Amino acid sequence: MKQSSIPIHTRKEAPTDEQSKNARLLLRNGFLNKHASGVYEFLPLGLRSLNKIINIIREEMNMLGAQEVLLSALQNPEIWKKTSRWSGDTDEVWFKTSLNSPQVASEDTRKKEKKTGGSELGLGFTHEEPITSLMATHISSYQHLPCSLYQFQTKFRNEARAKSGIMRTREFIMKDLYSFAKNKEEHNVFYEKVASAYMRIFERIGFKDRVYRTYASGGLFSEFSDEFQVVCDAGEDVIYISDKKNIALNKEVYTDAVIKKLGIDVSDLREAKATEVGNIFTLGTRFSEALECFYTNEQGERVPVFMGSYGIGPARILGTLIELYASDSNMCFPESVSPYTVHIIELEGGKEVAQSLYELLINQKVDVLYDDRSVRAGEKFADADIIGIPHRMIVSTKSINEGGIEYTDRITEETQNLSPQDAVAKAREVIQYVK
Ligand code: ATP
Ligand code: MG
Repeated sequence: MKQSSIPIHTRKEAPTDEQSKNARLLLRNGFLNKHASGVYEFLPLGLRSLNKIINIIREEMNMLGAQEVLLSALQNPEIWKKTSRWSGDTDEVWFKTSLNSPQVASEDTRKKEKKTGGSELGLGFTHEEPITSLMATHISSYQHLPCSLYQFQTKFRNEARAKSGIMRTREFIMKDLYSFAKNKEEHNVFYEKVASAYMRIFERIGFKDRVYRTYASGGLFSEFSDEFQVVCDAGEDVIYISDKKNIALNKEVYTDAVIKKLGIDVSDLREAKATEVGNIFTLGTRFSEALECFYTNEQGERVPVFMGSYGIGPARILGTLIELYASDSNMCFPESVSPYTVHIIELEGGKEVAQSLYELLINQKVDVLYDDRSVRAGEKFADADIIGIPHRMIVSTKSINEGGIEYTDRITEETQNLSPQDAVAKAREVIQYVK
């Protein structure tokens, strides 16, 4: 992509009302726009990174044999009343709306809506109810189980504390996976497979050696849930890590009894701030009983399906990457999630070589951003530093005199002069490695 053709520009200053490091940088480097408090829009570069994160997650979900769906954001109150989550404890989180505002609805419409149960709708903050209600009409026999469905779908949550930039917003895409099993044993097998898939996802995204499967509070059907916590100073959670056992526990379950049960020596635990990038949960039969998702087992008995739910927040992951790897004037993305793999920076005297390098790289299917703008070198570097592409190729009179292209691997910070052919070979090596 030629940088001159992206109609979004970097900003010198972040808005003064933005406190979190991730949002400040993502607003400056043109990844995001802030629409309202806790509400952000993804712009071309930001969306490319988000989609790379999403695609890594999607690949791993597909490998589990889960099928992708897309359920609606608008929610029918009737099914939520069955689990007592339409109102009460959930009042704080719901955004609710109505079919027609009373001002514009005709007398007729209002009468009809009254008959069919009212005109209220909710904007889903999670999807256990609709997915269970859907599957209640598809699962009837043990032969239909186990199965699993997932989606990338927009959730709405009236978050009270929207202070962590894109790590906690009021509208966000969640990957939510739901599993349906005959019983707890069958559920546990899938649950562990998801836990392994989550570790692979977070390692591929760039959290290797920083992500911990973490014991957290469970529910009716399991003593614990599992959170995937990335150690990060900007995180809202506190966890205790045992490096010896390679496990962690959330502060919320940090009690003498739990520590004893897990066989951990307290002196082996270190405290860390962390951010929850994923969460997996045994739901048991809570939702299947309430929404009548039953199946007939081999003995001919009608029993409730045993369920699990598994979430990941792609935007929170992007925010966490910034928190971990950026300073105010510099960012370097892991290759797997960078908006582009290579950034060509054309400086004075470099146009011809830069242009042909760009074409060679495009032909090799390398994701390349080409700064062909006629702006000062200093501005190009400052922008490139915050956009965060890990492989940089500078083309200038100087670089041409010294061999052709000044290539910098921003991850190892090594610089070398390469001929255009060697630069292409280098880029090919990089994409091979990313795959
Ligand atoms: P938290 O404890 O941080 O409030 P949660 O436990 O309510 O999150 P889940 O409902 O399990 O979160 O959601 C699954 C994933 O979605 C989380 O692990 C997180 O990555 C992401 N997520 C949750 N809430 C938000 C939010 N408000 N903004 C962005 N991502 C979110
Ligand atoms: Mg949580």
